[in-house]
Amino acid sequence: MNERQHDSYTRWRRGLSYVWWPLLVSGALALTAYAFTFGYDKVITLAVIYVGFALLVGVIEQVMPHNPAWNLRDGQVMQDLGHTFVGSVLAPRLADGMVLALMAAPQVWLAEYYGGTLWPGGWPIAAQAALAIVLGDFGGYWSHRLAHEIPFLWRFHALHHSPLRLYFVNTGRFHPIDSMKSTLMIAPLLILLGAPEEVMLWQIAFTNYVGILSHCNIEMRCGCLNFLFNTPGVHRWHHSRLPREADNNYGENVMIYDLLFRTHLNPDRPPPVDLGIKAAIPSGFTAQLLSPLHFDALEAEGARLRALASLETDTAND
Ligand SMILES: [Zn+2]
Ligand SMILES: [Zn+2]
Repeated sequence: MNERQHDSYTRWRRGLSYVWWPLLVSGALALTAYAFTFGYDKVITLAVIYVGFALLVGVIEQVMPHNPAWNLRDGQVMQDLGHTFVGSVLAPRLADGMVLALMAAPQVWLAEYYGGTLWPGGWPIAAQAALAIVLGDFGGYWSHRLAHEIPFLWRFHALHHSPLRLYFVNTGRFHPIDSMKSTLMIAPLLILLGAPEEVMLWQIAFTNYVGILSHCNIEMRCGCLNFLFNTPGVHRWHHSRLPREADNNYGENVMIYDLLFRTHLNPDRPPPVDLGIKAAIPSGFTAQLLSPLHFDALEAEGARLRALASLETDTAND
């Protein structure tokens, strides 16, 4: 590649880095709207588009990585996929069922009291979906923040923060108890207000697309979008090893509650490369699921390993 070609390539990469996020999110939403017109089962349609979207993100990660080291295998791919299935697919469905059962009676009472549902069903579907996203994120924000601030809840959320890299596959790496707690805090308000199933599906679709991009290892510059949405620009800070950086940017989709409750972090410097947590989370899938049961021992083991590593560094420097 000569110098001119290199300049043109660099310009292309830079230009693309500014448009990836809006391009991918709007493209996925437009494809979802188009696919819904075919009349197939919407849940299956969403699942198919989600898998296709994830694979596309995975390909772009190889071509335009934010951090090439994050494309190297960490021996956690199967565990990440397992946790995605158990923690992000099965557990939220179970919690949804619990919320529907718990909210059935209050929903009927509210509908009778007000002579109908409180949900603004006459609004355009895009406006209803936006409302569901913003209202849902209120519970999501507090569920996530409490997981960082209450040590007992952190035991279950730590699994999500244990990887040393961010890439599209570890987006759904959640402990089932952690994700059930999130669903139990997000869904009741929407169900109580009577949000229709189609609106809930759009909320899930948006959460899926924004979620996978928040973890993606694609070179992106999100600019003012960092103040509106949970972009990779803000979520990388949330995965920092330093608690003073990680205990911020809790929004699942939108940043409105982080701005409101003063937990929005978007400094004008490169995002952290040192990710992870202090506890030494085991590498096996089952052991990871059981890790909250003996979390104190895992934190002690993490401290022991760090002391050992610094001792080795000191010896090497002598
Ligand atoms: Zn977190
Ligand atoms: Zn994350």
